[in-house]
Amino acid sequence: MSAYSFFQGVEKYFDQAAPFTGLPQGLLQQIKGCNAVLRVQVPLKLANGDVEVLEAYRVQHSNHRQPTKGGIRYSEDVNQDEVMALAALMTYKCAVVDVPFGGAKGGIKINPKKYTVEQLERITRRYTAELVRKNFIGPGLDVPAPDYGTGPREMAWIVDTYTALKHGEIDAAGCVTGKPVNQNGIQGRTEATGRGVFYGLRTACSFEDDMKALGLTTGLEGKTMVIQGLGNVGSYTGLISQKEGGVKVICVAEHDGAIYNAAGLDVEALIAHRDKTGSILGFAGATQLATRGEALELECDILVPAALENQINADNAARIKAKIIAEAANGPVTPEAEAILLQRGCLIIPDMYINAGGVTVSYFEWLKNLSHVRFGRMQKRFEQKAYENIINTVESLTGKKVDERDRAIIVRGADEVDLVRSGLEETMITAYHGIRNTWKSIAGLNSLRTAAFVYAIKKIGNDYAALGIFP
Ligand code: GLU
Repeated sequence: MSAYSFFQGVEKYFDQAAPFTGLPQGLLQQIKGCNAVLRVQVPLKLANGDVEVLEAYRVQHSNHRQPTKGGIRYSEDVNQDEVMALAALMTYKCAVVDVPFGGAKGGIKINPKKYTVEQLERITRRYTAELVRKNFIGPGLDVPAPDYGTGPREMAWIVDTYTALKHGEIDAAGCVTGKPVNQNGIQGRTEATGRGVFYGLRTACSFEDDMKALGLTTGLEGKTMVIQGLGNVGSYTGLISQKEGGVKVICVAEHDGAIYNAAGLDVEALIAHRDKTGSILGFAGATQLATRGEALELECDILVPAALENQINADNAARIKAKIIAEAANGPVTPEAEAILLQRGCLIIPDMYINAGGVTVSYFEWLKNLSHVRFGRMQKRFEQKAYENIINTVESLTGKKVDERDRAIIVRGADEVDLVRSGLEETMITAYHGIRNTWKSIAGLNSLRTAAFVYAIKKIGNDYAALGIFP
């Protein structure tokens, strides 16, 4: 499939960018490698008394900033190389969106569907205990989050185990993010990656020159989208792009098949259908494609691979017709495939930028945990009163009344979710401009990905310089 392992692929992308950074070789080497790899065995006692030993990892790629940050994946494909690659991507991702963390990732080699909830809880708690024992978790050390195969439930088990072992640690809630909202989580974290993909796409599609080069008009309205993977990221990307961006989602692919409707699929209804029947197949008004792989090869404006790595590779790249690829998953395009796609003029919006919404809102959650106060608590009422005063003054000066509906819209103070969304929007817009400016201002940069690497590596280089380690 690829001449490179996943981690080698990330290294290859790094090497393409390195000469454009102007940084010394030693510093580049320091940034590129993984700092610490933890491999642990997690024993699970089965109902019949046997013990199954599970393979688990936590990798800290770069500690130039503390804590390190990144999700925990439960999947049968987990291996050391994969976790190293994902940890490295976290380092660059955090740098791109100015989240002040180093990169990390964890994984347990299991198919969570094959275990009971009670077993998953025991696995998660034991894994957490191993991380505590090895100093690989803590609000100032290393902060996990959800990834493929995990979610708020697992994060709740992690924080509970950590807190039990670290009794009295005042910031313990910040040891993990993506927690349920009623357990020190934050509003808007679940949708964050998908919402970030939407903000990122909207920004990318706002540049007339770039859209012209693709034969597209600016704006998201009416653009066709194909989504591979209707998990957390794919679902929210589809839902929000459709509702708030006017995008037409024409095809969705899942592990058991792909469905298509040229007139557009109602993503909300599709998710409801999937939740009820267990599959996207059989959705009213949609036709099923002969193979799920065909979904990636459909004519469309935007292709969103939102599943796993290596989905677009040397085998299928030449058949992919999408004008824009938004890498909602981590590492979905191999270096070989990228070369083919770039030659065709495809705009690939790289993972380390487009899926950074998750870690951005994780950062907000961590800040909330450390400050021990909900966003909006201090200022909401104050803002409301200030807006009321302005309207009252305008009314008394003009002698006219603002109608009740408009008044209600204007005087609303910001809730936590409003602040989270606005912080995320600001982050995604600023980061895109930073990457694009790098892309346009350095001669010879052939892709947005290389530009994103250059942008990230330079920032990390500056951090090291500030530490005084490198001249
Ligand atoms: N697992 C997500 C990612 O790949 C989120 C990581 C986090 O929030 O720390 O970016």
